[in-house]
Amino acid sequence: MGEEMRGGCFCGSIRYAVTSRPKLRAQCHCRACQYFSGGGPNYYMLISPQHIHFSGDPARKYRNPEKPDAVTRSFCGTCGTHLITERPGLREIVLKVGTLDEPGAFRGPKIAIFCEEKQDWHMIPEGITTFDTLPSSN
Ligand SMILES: [Zn+2]
Ligand SMILES: [Zn+2]
Repeated sequence: MGEEMRGGCFCGSIRYAVTSRPKLRAQCHCRACQYFSGGGPNYYMLISPQHIHFSGDPARKYRNPEKPDAVTRSFCGTCGTHLITERPGLREIVLKVGTLDEPGAFRGPKIAIFCEEKQDWHMIPEGITTFDTLPSSN
């Protein structure tokens, strides 16, 4: 359990523990993420579903009913913190880095996705791999 990371929503109603290293560390510039992040990219890690354990209140979920391939986003029903996204066809859970008790454990993104939707003032760290939309392996 040496790799365990803990986190939760802003008010503490939802808590989680992650029991493995992330499969990927990334930032997403898509227009939807800009709504939930406050305007910047969303920073996230991919975690295998069997390696994240939730406790506390059940999350509220939102999925755009008009998009057949829409992601499902989970929020705290009390404070509104966005915790995870589940994407159809993607086995891993997309975990929002800002919900970690120690966000420094993220250590920065390796890739940037949906760069075709980024704002001119979004920052992409030098030397990381960028994708116009999703990496083709997804
Ligand atoms: Zn909360
Ligand atoms: Zn996004």
